[in-house]
Amino acid sequence: MPNIDPNRTGQKKMKMPILVLGVVVLVAGLGTWGYLYSMNIHHTIQLGGLGLAVLGAVIAVGGAMMKTISVGGTTGTGQFACAKCGAKFGSEAALNQHTKDKHGM
Ligand SMILES: [Zn+2]
Repeated sequence: MPNIDPNRTGQKKMKMPILVLGVVVLVAGLGTWGYLYSMNIHHTIQLGGLGLAVLGAVIAVGGAMMKTISVGGTTGTGQFACAKCGAKFGSEAALNQHTKDKHGM
């Protein structure tokens, strides 16, 4: 039986944006802060940029943790999700059967 696992890539697609969003906000915040700092703009506004960077870091860490928890929590049932409709199955055989029946693959 070929070891096709669309579930894994599907989960990555679902979890990655949180991490990516966090990194983007972090970089944007650091960039804003660095820009404002170099321009010697008012300190309160600088703190806003720094706050944005911290928020981004928190989101990134949260996203990474969620991903880790998700990976650890899916070793049991519901490990195999259909790439087409997202239905979850406890075994690869059940998923393959569903894919064949519902999606003709
Ligand atoms: Zn399906």
